[in-house]
Amino acid sequence: MENKLVIYNTLSRKKELFEPLNPPFVGMYVCGPTVYGDAHLGHARPAITFDLLFRYLRHLGYKVRYVRNITDVGHLVNDADEGEDKIAKKAKLEQLEPMEVVQEYTIRYHKNMTQLNTLPPSIEPHASGHIIEQQEMIKQIMANGFAYESEGNVYFDVERYNQKYHYGKLSGRKIEELFANTRRLDGQQEKRNPFDFALWKKAAPEHIMRWPSPWGEGFPGWHLECSCMSQKYLGDRFDIHGGGLDLQFPHHECEIAQSTAACGHDAVRYWMHNNMVTINGQKMGKSLGNFITLDQLFSGENDVLEQAYTPMTVRFFILQAHYRSPLDFSNEALKAAEKGYERLMAAVRQLDKLKPSNENTVDIETLKNNCFEAINDDLNTPVLISHLFEGVRVINSIAAGHEKINEENLDKLKRLFHDFVFDILGLQSETDNNASNEALGKVIDAMMNVRKAARANKDWTTSDRIRDELKNAGIQIKDTKEGYEWSLLED
Ligand code: ZN
Repeated sequence: MENKLVIYNTLSRKKELFEPLNPPFVGMYVCGPTVYGDAHLGHARPAITFDLLFRYLRHLGYKVRYVRNITDVGHLVNDADEGEDKIAKKAKLEQLEPMEVVQEYTIRYHKNMTQLNTLPPSIEPHASGHIIEQQEMIKQIMANGFAYESEGNVYFDVERYNQKYHYGKLSGRKIEELFANTRRLDGQQEKRNPFDFALWKKAAPEHIMRWPSPWGEGFPGWHLECSCMSQKYLGDRFDIHGGGLDLQFPHHECEIAQSTAACGHDAVRYWMHNNMVTINGQKMGKSLGNFITLDQLFSGENDVLEQAYTPMTVRFFILQAHYRSPLDFSNEALKAAEKGYERLMAAVRQLDKLKPSNENTVDIETLKNNCFEAINDDLNTPVLISHLFEGVRVINSIAAGHEKINEENLDKLKRLFHDFVFDILGLQSETDNNASNEALGKVIDAMMNVRKAARANKDWTTSDRIRDELKNAGIQIKDTKEGYEWSLLED
């Protein structure tokens, strides 16, 4: 197994060679969505980033257990142990059971993730399905002296924890600064310190999502589910924990504290964070009026959008940036991604048609090494894609007769493109990705042969008629140096 993959570890703040704890097995946990609304651009980025990593690790031969949770309880509106549960709030608004909200938006999330061609995780646990495990973990943390009960709530004792371990090591925050910067809020008198966070919250009488516990009826704190479910499915030491940069603090910092308080050591070997998506330079938000759901992106139904963008355009757009760089959405950038994606796919189709020659003038081995070097460098997809476009240039040059490729190199080039474009980057063709389109391609080929013969006979009437009939059937033909390309017209 080739093991040259280097990943940036947020915890050590440097790039490290990826060495799994128990090869060939790899445990990977990624924070999933809170399912109370439609998935948006901000959901697409972590899903695609960690899908890329999942795909690449599998390509390298690792057996990956990929766990991505569904948050369906405990995520409060203001993230600070106060306010309504996001799911319960939506349920009240729509007059639904909270679990109806969860089911509805989980189904929609899965639909969007399938459209983006992300592979389903190996396990997708729900927080509400692990209440007992979460209570057990609270008991463990309390028994170790790092949590206290207060008026039916259980809080994590950050100061006590920090005396033995280091609270803030992931985000680089210092507890003294937290002291200085955390405002004492109303209703937090039951906490010893305002930055203590809830492991268990007492349910107010109107709170509909509630479970019995040794501390009274209530519900778990949001951070707890990830410590608990990662431990249950991946063990108390596992390889990779991923999520968006916005989760680094407090969510992941609290996860580290909880796992360490319960087990006496860190659970995670490599912490990975993807950067955020902005829209025309602004943070995306409902109140800012620039909030774009994935459904809107794919249908074009949002005032911010000048057109609809296909799921593969969106995937390609996200992969064109390095996952640790900020990514700004704009119509110009999406249109450029659309062109780039189509050019890449046209080359893949062209590649299938190339015939080997006895001579060879191209260097595929170097191209292959460059591609692996890029992805091994902390998943550097922008550089990887630039090398693939060097491959596109080579393909087009061979097709045009400027370069020659022998059988061995042609096989290598096809393998390279297949592996990187489809298996690793997870792109798929949106025009000819199924058998019916393959059959359609053959019919078009047959008609184009008739057209070619007609043109050779200067029978322009027949030639024009074939083009018009194809157009009526929704098929666009473009003449190229190498022959022609076809695509389906948009309705
Ligand atoms: Zn999480």
